[in-house]
Amino acid sequence: MAALDGLPPLREVIQRHGLDARKALGQNFLLDLNLTQKVARTAGALDDATVFEVGPGPGGLTRAILALGAKKVIAVERDARCLPALAEIADHYPGRLEVIEGDALKTDFEVLAPEGPVKIIANLPYNVGTQLLVNWLLPKAWPPFWQSLTLMFQKEVGERIVASEDDDHYGRLGVLAGWRTHSRMAFDIPPQAFTPPPKVTSTVVHLTPNENPIPCSVANLEKVTQAAFGQRRKMLRQSLKPIGGESLLTKTGIDPARRAETLSVEEFCRLANSL
Ligand code: SAM
Repeated sequence: MAALDGLPPLREVIQRHGLDARKALGQNFLLDLNLTQKVARTAGALDDATVFEVGPGPGGLTRAILALGAKKVIAVERDARCLPALAEIADHYPGRLEVIEGDALKTDFEVLAPEGPVKIIANLPYNVGTQLLVNWLLPKAWPPFWQSLTLMFQKEVGERIVASEDDDHYGRLGVLAGWRTHSRMAFDIPPQAFTPPPKVTSTVVHLTPNENPIPCSVANLEKVTQAAFGQRRKMLRQSLKPIGGESLLTKTGIDPARRAETLSVEEFCRLANSL
């Protein structure tokens, strides 16, 4: 893509700006331009979309998103060392890249969202990725302000997001994602594609809102999933004891001898609605 967008190769950018990767910030940079384009393409057409990106770093994925025609990118980056490199990209695409220096966990993306379609695309820092996803899954109003999430996670986290009942990876994340979205794992990225390479394989997960999720209180669903999966090997009559146990299960017509991982999203919603 260096040739396509006329910007210098990412390795040169990293060297010139002294962007040695910091583990504490989850910095594993993706420098393979074919892969950054593949991630951006997973989000579908970008022409009329505003894209939120978390953690642009030296800007590899940002450049792919802009080269694919996103109307605007709003990127939130915590590491001030990356800002000069990102400013070069902003100069190259006048008016199309806005960089916010800050912590994505403390950023109110909904308030920043402009009119029109919003897509979120990110190679997420591993230490905050799950929490960001949960924040995007749990706004009070639904459908949410975003049209799709295209996010890179450790593969094991991706498996938990797309898991459904009777799958070993099924848990709180699978219930939340299964309740409010349609999700799929798009493709894996091996460790050696990153600089420096992480210990594990990564995966890109694509989520779109389920327009009509079963009506259910977020707080109650959280209570039920936390209790049930907190002791996932135990029968529900035991694990749900603190929130009603056997009587709650009988009321909802669920066999108290079942275990958390066998319950469908619909059954979790039923329990939450009976609390
Ligand atoms: N997007 C770049 C890429 O694909 O090569 C970098 C991805 S790297 C895995 C994660 C990025 O998130 C780093 O640039 C890091 O500084 C940034 N980051 C870490 N924690 C953050 C936070 N809480 N809020 C915003 N950015 C954060």
